[in-house]
Amino acid sequence: MGRSLKEILRQKDRNYERLINIFLITLWMGILIPFSWKAAFYLESLSHKDFWAIFLLQLLFVLTSAFPMKFKGTTVTLDSPLSLAAFLMYGFWVEAMLMQLSILILLLAQGVLTIKRYAVNMLLFLSVSYLSAFMFDTVYAWTQAWPDSFALFISSLFYVAARFLSNEVLLYPGRYLLYRTWGKTDPQEMAWHALTTFAVAPFGLLFFKLYEDVGLFFFLYVLIPFVLLAVLLRLYYQLSDLKKLLSVWEKAVRIWGGTLDLELLLERMNASLQMIFGADRSHIRIAMDDGTYLEKEFKNVTPTRWVGSTEAMFDHLWSELAHSKRRLKTIRWLGVWFQGMAIGLYDRDRLIGVILLIRQSSPRFTRAERVLLKVLADQFGLAIGQVLAYQTMRLRLLTDELTGLGNYRAFDQRLREWFELAKGEGRALSLLMIDLDHFKQINDTYGHPFGDTVLQQVARTMQRVVGSEGEVFRYGGEEFAVLLLDKDSRQARVIAETICHSVNQLVFYAQSLHDTHSDKNSGNDRAYVSQIEKEMVRVKTSLSIGFASLNQAQDTPEELVRHADRAMYAGAKQKGRNRVAYYEELE
Ligand code: GH3
Ligand code: MG
Ligand code: MG
Repeated sequence: MGRSLKEILRQKDRNYERLINIFLITLWMGILIPFSWKAAFYLESLSHKDFWAIFLLQLLFVLTSAFPMKFKGTTVTLDSPLSLAAFLMYGFWVEAMLMQLSILILLLAQGVLTIKRYAVNMLLFLSVSYLSAFMFDTVYAWTQAWPDSFALFISSLFYVAARFLSNEVLLYPGRYLLYRTWGKTDPQEMAWHALTTFAVAPFGLLFFKLYEDVGLFFFLYVLIPFVLLAVLLRLYYQLSDLKKLLSVWEKAVRIWGGTLDLELLLERMNASLQMIFGADRSHIRIAMDDGTYLEKEFKNVTPTRWVGSTEAMFDHLWSELAHSKRRLKTIRWLGVWFQGMAIGLYDRDRLIGVILLIRQSSPRFTRAERVLLKVLADQFGLAIGQVLAYQTMRLRLLTDELTGLGNYRAFDQRLREWFELAKGEGRALSLLMIDLDHFKQINDTYGHPFGDTVLQQVARTMQRVVGSEGEVFRYGGEEFAVLLLDKDSRQARVIAETICHSVNQLVFYAQSLHDTHSDKNSGNDRAYVSQIEKEMVRVKTSLSIGFASLNQAQDTPEELVRHADRAMYAGAKQKGRNRVAYYEELE
């Protein structure tokens, strides 16, 4: 009954998680409510012109965050100079409020609708705003004796430094609260970030000074060029993103090309999905001919972050895709921060599989990525279809159609494989050669189709007896072979006797053929009529089995076959049929 330790721990983990969430949200509300009141009272003392300025600042804030410029892979935003300008113009309350609103707008725009995310981000940025304002005021108080513009400059520098540092440091708890991982900041990236932050910092002072001089016109000078720049940069980044994706794509395609092994192919496809999309998890599920699924997954995140079962997800996606004309489904989970894309794999027009891609902390999938996934899925579908077709062909090549057993080719392959294995590792191997007794007579008496039925029944019986102990093959005609790995002669004899006995138990009912030609219908068009008298006959059959087991003196698989065959003829057939003979016991 007892729950496993793992389950109890997981339950505890969940309770603890819930407590943290409740604490976070309470803290956020506890700060947000007095904060908004205070900010509202503060705003009351401002003029009409100030409201316009604040509104335009807000616009700039959102625009700069929405269109980040990238430089050598580092995002350069004008966040920090804008914060500085807002702070210098209107002080902490307005700056903090603008920041909070910007985050709200950005998170909404990204479609990340979790309260927890709001809470964490807003608390984080409120702390950053507060710490940098505190730093500015402290330094400004110290530099009172200096000329005012110099004091302003030094304090601003400290403001930007405090912003940068508190942001970097608070990122760690922020990441932990959101993703349960402390993460790591790449030092090189951090250095770039610091450099660019300080490089653009003087703009903050410039904005402030300009605003003091020209008032609201300042926004005209800043906003219009900024919007133009943002649009241009966005176009540029879309292009360079695409360029990057294409170069990764080229590498990724080389990875999965040229294999006929389905499992390996799927593994490689997962690897290229990972490379191209930076996916944290990717799953591929393929529907096999026999109604089962083949699934391969790649994981980059700890499973505890995963909520819900992929099984259910797949079933749902499958039925959605099967009934929809759209090939691509973009999915987003509420409550947990995941971006997912699912796409059907089609072999021409047949749905043969589904790809599920999950990205946890990275931004939502872009348009370019969606297009790329579609193209990739088309290629995957065709490649998988070809491998499946190849496997079907291969299977057909190795299967006997009448009995469904492996044919001579399959026997030969398995024999060589197991012979090597047994020889190499000193394991036992036995071979039974089986031939039906007086089978020609059965054919002659009851017809070839009846003979076929007998062969099928006998094959099924042998398969049932052998089960997973070995493998049964149709060696040719009415001859069968059974390979038994890890079975010595004693065990092989037991199996052979059981086969013999079980086939003896089989009873068939046949219609014996007596052709009588009569002339009674000679006046008819049918000058010659064959009349078949039908009468049911009980038919029984038997078989002769010879077997041999591997010994160290045997060098080749052919030798093993020869020995078993000799045992069958000399030991079983010649001694009266319907019996089992062992090669080592031949006289
Ligand atoms: P014994 O082995 O006991 O010496 O006698 P036998 O009659 O079985 O020997 P033989 O090898 O002469 O006959 C084998 C017969 O099996 C000949 C052939 O018509 C029949 N046979 C081989 N393949 C098939 C098949 O696929 N279907 C049917 N119905 N008969 C087959
Ligand atoms: Mg024969
Ligand atoms: Mg025979």
